[in-house]
Amino acid sequence: MKTIELKHVNKVFGSGIGRVQALKDINFTADSGELSLVLGPSGSGKSTFLTIAGGLQRPTSGVVKIGGIDVSALSPKESDQLRLNQVGFVLQNYDLLPYLTVKEQFQLVKRVSEQTISRQELKQLLNDLGIAQLVNQYPSQLSGGQMQRVAIARALYQKPAIVLADEPTAALDSQRVKVVGQLLADLAHQRGETVIVVTHDERLRQFADHVYQIIDGQMTGEH
Ligand code: ADP
Ligand code: MG
Repeated sequence: MKTIELKHVNKVFGSGIGRVQALKDINFTADSGELSLVLGPSGSGKSTFLTIAGGLQRPTSGVVKIGGIDVSALSPKESDQLRLNQVGFVLQNYDLLPYLTVKEQFQLVKRVSEQTISRQELKQLLNDLGIAQLVNQYPSQLSGGQMQRVAIARALYQKPAIVLADEPTAALDSQRVKVVGQLLADLAHQRGETVIVVTHDERLRQFADHVYQIIDGQMTGEH
């Protein structure tokens, strides 16, 4: 099933001399059970593409469908609900709450989400990511790579059907990149989730079912 669909999507920021067209006529689909990788340099429109694909911001023109539903037809409350229950975001700035410990970040997710993975699955996930010993730490006590892995675990904790990850390996060494790449591939291949990763990290290429390039807001497919 096509779980994410963008048709003729454009995004323009600003006007006049400050006008930036961040996305140019993007046509893209992602299916469940597959990992799609969008590769592009800094400033090419990756974060804009991902946040629009997940309904976090609206396109200037064009259609975005999540699970077959046209996001523009939803009220703000309905689109919040859709995101909360279907989409797990791993954002570029990690988006961790500074005044909550790692464990409390997960407890907060549990309070607002319809479903989460089991306690046992969480334990396994934290072990796989090598962050099980950090549960009582605050974000300020973590390294960039540790924050990145906590943000990944938190997105997966809410058992989303769709996982959207923005530069999820930027702060990781090669060994951790393999772990995270394999984890994201397993989510797609074993759990049938839709996984989209935007990155400049070529090391993730080997885990992807589809690879796209984005340059100056224009997307092309490699295969
Ligand atoms: P990437 O994630 O590939 O680095 P972005 O999607 O963040 O690229 O940005 C693409 C272009 O859009 C850049 O030129 C950036 O400056 C611009 N841009 C992104 N977000 C905004 C915004 N909120 N306001 C103005 N310009 C923006
Ligand atoms: Mg970005």
